[in-house]
Amino acid sequence: MISGPPVHPPVENLNEDDLEVIYWEVRGHDGCYRTVAALQHFFDLFPTNHPLRIRTADGEDFITDIDSRVILEFDLHRPLQIMHIAMGGGKSFSTGDQERMNQAVWGFERPGEEMVGIALDMASMQFGEKGRGKGGENFMLGTLDAFYNFVETVVAGGDPMKLGSKRIGPSPHDKWLKEVARRVRYRWTNRETGRWCDHCGKPLDAPKSCPCHEVFYCGSAHQKKAWRFHKKHCSKRKTN
Ligand SMILES: [Zn+2]
Ligand SMILES: [Zn+2]
Repeated sequence: MISGPPVHPPVENLNEDDLEVIYWEVRGHDGCYRTVAALQHFFDLFPTNHPLRIRTADGEDFITDIDSRVILEFDLHRPLQIMHIAMGGGKSFSTGDQERMNQAVWGFERPGEEMVGIALDMASMQFGEKGRGKGGENFMLGTLDAFYNFVETVVAGGDPMKLGSKRIGPSPHDKWLKEVARRVRYRWTNRETGRWCDHCGKPLDAPKSCPCHEVFYCGSAHQKKAWRFHKKHCSKRKTN
């Protein structure tokens, strides 16, 4: 069944959660190749054998290296969510009204495995609330099987298009995406002096820390939202 545009309550009745979903729908709009490129530019700032730690909302936690990554591209048929975005100045965009769309995500191998076991879709919320990660994240990082199951709920069908390439691009967005990548690395390198909210990314003057002192929040609302994911990895409360 082809559904219409996502149905949101009237603007005056939107709560914070509705607004967040709409924000990510718009942000992720046709954005998967850009998110793949952004992470590629980030990885390019490190040596190829640099360790990479993967932690998922399922509680998986392992270290691989950044060279174990590959790009997985799919040809998806008939998206089930059609979305129209009206911007200022008469500009508007549509997603999902085409017969086919391409989707790109990152894949990672677990140590000692010769095949991709983990998928990262950083634009999964272009499909709305269904694209939210299992721990409430605004992206999906989990098993490849879970990613396939998700795809089945948002499109009528799909085929693998190109699996296993190491790089994509070049693209007209590279200049600003490289800026983004450098900014992320700068933040990470200087995290002792410049904290940010682990949920929304906002820079923090007065960080509110989890008792483990590994993550910080802009306030208790975002601490609460992030807990579903963080509880799987919090050193002060290890539950799986
Ligand atoms: Zn926040
Ligand atoms: Zn913690």
